[in-house]
Amino acid sequence: MKIAIIGAGFGALAAAFDLSKSLDDEIEIIDPGSSAGGLAAGFEQEHWDWSLEEHYHHAFDTDKALKKFLEDLDLRQQLVYKRVKSSTLYHGKMHQIDSPISLLKFKEISLWSRIRTGAVLAFLKILPNGIVLENFKAGQFLRATMGQESWRVIWEPLFVSKFGRFSEEVNLSWFWARVNPRTAALGYFEGGWKHLADLIVKKLQKAGVKVSLSSQVLKITKVADGFMLNIKQNDQEINRSYDLVISTLSSPVFAKLIDLPELKKEKLLGLGAMTMLLRLKKKLLKDGTYWLNVNEKNWPFVAIVEHDNYISSAHYGGESLVYLGRYLPSTDREYQKTSAELLADYRPFLQKIDPDFDQNLIEAKLYKAPFAQPISFVGQSKFLPSFKTSLPGLYWVCMQHVYPFDRGINHAIAKARQLVKHVRIDTSSS
Ligand SMILES: Cc1cc2nc3c(=O)[nH]c(=O)nc-3n(C[C@H](O)[C@H](O)[C@H](O)COP(=O)(O)OP(=O)(O)OC[C@H]3O[C@@H](n4cnc5c(N)ncnc54)[C@H](O)[C@@H]3O)c2cc1C
Repeated sequence: MKIAIIGAGFGALAAAFDLSKSLDDEIEIIDPGSSAGGLAAGFEQEHWDWSLEEHYHHAFDTDKALKKFLEDLDLRQQLVYKRVKSSTLYHGKMHQIDSPISLLKFKEISLWSRIRTGAVLAFLKILPNGIVLENFKAGQFLRATMGQESWRVIWEPLFVSKFGRFSEEVNLSWFWARVNPRTAALGYFEGGWKHLADLIVKKLQKAGVKVSLSSQVLKITKVADGFMLNIKQNDQEINRSYDLVISTLSSPVFAKLIDLPELKKEKLLGLGAMTMLLRLKKKLLKDGTYWLNVNEKNWPFVAIVEHDNYISSAHYGGESLVYLGRYLPSTDREYQKTSAELLADYRPFLQKIDPDFDQNLIEAKLYKAPFAQPISFVGQSKFLPSFKTSLPGLYWVCMQHVYPFDRGINHAIAKARQLVKHVRIDTSSS
């Protein structure tokens, strides 16, 4: 059977790996990127030993599907874990809040609020499946249980900067998914996630999988005995036919390729990400913080992530690497801004953290992803897409399938491998 996998993110790579076990199939991965990895893709610099992601990426110790996949690939040893420091910027000060003890020491809210906050987080930590919480709105629940003060100081700034006008719509399952799998130690693949994607591509090619990069699917057409894909490759358009197609695209991107009713569900919404990566001569966060939540009013980014407070700058020619994370609809005017325009907006805020910011800046790079954060509404499970589309032989797995979990490499792999099991059942019975 001839199988096309649209996309070369970690979901697609995992699906191809499992499908490649059958010698009867001809498998092709198609992606417009110059390398594999999708949203976790990265790049290299001549004087760096390791690659770096365009958008910050780490794994949790609870990421079972990722660990299992790496075991199957014989690459598990290269996933390394390290405890990091996470802090919150509030009223001009950085406060470490990354454990029950550090939360108890956070004196910007009353002791009673800290105890209530800790108790709710502990409850979410032990609750095994957050789907039961999907009929509660996260904001309402947190205000009622942790209290107004905790909401106003710790959570509201993050919800508002992350979800904008949807901040009051997000359900409690999403919040559970952010709290429950989180571990103090974070995992990173030695050499970077791009290095992992490159290694997987090599293994897939060795197993006979065709990996067509710099190739974009423009259209999917149902034909009598399968599907015809119209593909743009090296500025040329070609048509290729397949018996079975797996799309790993999020709904708005998939909908541009084919008209399917399931892609029009109104609650399949998501936000874009705008990540600015700063290459610096010296650290921005000098206290060792890796992840800094920005809980200040009117700051233009929600998080500052100092990669070299996690992975040694020795791998990057001694450079300090800092991500500024931000989420907003890709239709927003702000999303259209260039790197220079955004840097001009961000500069006064960065100078508050480091008055020598300008002297330390080597380069600012801007990466945009138009669909990067699905929004989980109340009762989201009713709107969940299934693996099978309304066209037999056309399958779908993407970030919107991993609910109630939030997006993540681990979940992309888990869902893609589940999808392959469904494909196997369908194709063996037909
Ligand atoms: C800012 C940010 C931070 C993140 N942080 C983390 C983190 O710390 N840890 C974590 O685990 N996850 C994180 N994620 C999420 C993680 O990157 C994704 O959940 C995961 O990579 C999704 O993999 P995927 O294979 O489902 O989809 P994707 O990676 O989105 O892959 C889809 C692929 O389809 C390709 N494509 C698009 N259009 C076409 C077309 N027309 N034809 C062919 N191919 C096409 C794209 O180029 C892409 O390669 C983060 C994401 C973002 C944006």
